Amino acid sequence: MYHRKDTRPVKVGNLTIGGADEVIIQSMCTTKTADVAATVAEIRRLEEAGCQLVRVTVNTEEAAAAIKEIKKQINIPLVADIHFNYRLALAAIENGIDKVRINPGNIGKRDRVEAVVKACKERGIPIRIGVNAGSLENHLLEKYGYPTAEAMVESALYHIGILEELDFYDIIVSLKASDVPMAIEAYTMAAEKFNYPLHLGITEAGTLFAGTVKSAAGLGALLARGIGNTIRVSLSADPVEEVKVARELLKSFGLISNAATLISCPTCGRLDIDLFSIVNEVEEYIANIKAPIKVSVLGCAVNGPGEAREADIGIAGGRGEGLLFRHGEIVRKVPEDQLVDELKKEIDALVAEYERT
Ligand code: SF4
Repeated sequence: MYHRKDTRPVKVGNLTIGGADEVIIQSMCTTKTADVAATVAEIRRLEEAGCQLVRVTVNTEEAAAAIKEIKKQINIPLVADIHFNYRLALAAIENGIDKVRINPGNIGKRDRVEAVVKACKERGIPIRIGVNAGSLENHLLEKYGYPTAEAMVESALYHIGILEELDFYDIIVSLKASDVPMAIEAYTMAAEKFNYPLHLGITEAGTLFAGTVKSAAGLGALLARGIGNTIRVSLSADPVEEVKVARELLKSFGLISNAATLISCPTCGRLDIDLFSIVNEVEEYIANIKAPIKVSVLGCAVNGPGEAREADIGIAGGRGEGLLFRHGEIVRKVPEDQLVDELKKEIDALVAEYERT
């Protein structure tokens, strides 16, 4: 089985997907792509949240034309999501797109596939083959009866074969299903069959709460096996939430080097402060920090500092006052109403120190 670092490195704008242990975070715009101002505004919010690659739907000529202007106003690579229409793919490529998501077997006649591949080759643009359990080719549904992991991998190999025949190898593959065990099986089988980078996703995962749990279950199982080079969490929510969930997931596996981690206790009867509001405030404060620091917020000083020994900085609540500690060692006592402000100052100092080194 291919570990993610054994996969083929594929360039997407200024990023490389595959060939390393890094997992790139991506999301998709919810705006009409032709509405440049709204799309750029959403992409900037995604970028601020830590999104590294963003996809837009290219379903009309106006959407394809908007790519040129959107590209001028954003800093992260842009992906065009295209179904069937090869002319829109060509227009997106012409307008400076960095990657195209299209299934070559769905474009139609051979000369159309050749035209798209030729345009991608000339500009060094990769293609993502997006297999989806809900839209498998008819010949596979006839063969397997219903969507299965085997059918999904066979679909991926079918599309890969078309591109390889045209001497095109800058390929990224996704095998999305909303059924978690099926997605895990499909990605695991794919990692055994080919070494193209894998774009992970549990499609139509659901709302912010349910979709987060479902995505964490499926994507977590794969990331733990060394599978996956880029991830998109699909939620029926603001796409910024998708990025936040993806970052949290990658943090759990030590797969993100520029994010702050929060450790907080579940609280118990020893609690004497309003920990939940403190922890929410601290979480919001560190959300966009691009430094690998660990911050701890604990309810009391009895077990707290010892339990959070690996934290770079933290606070432990008490009655009327709290403790500030570093790496499990108490630094000083702070009045309760100043605890969060003091912690924020220490966090800023740690980030500044990290940025200097
Ligand atoms: Fe309870 Fe203190 Fe542990 Fe939090 S840190 S769970 S308040 S003992």
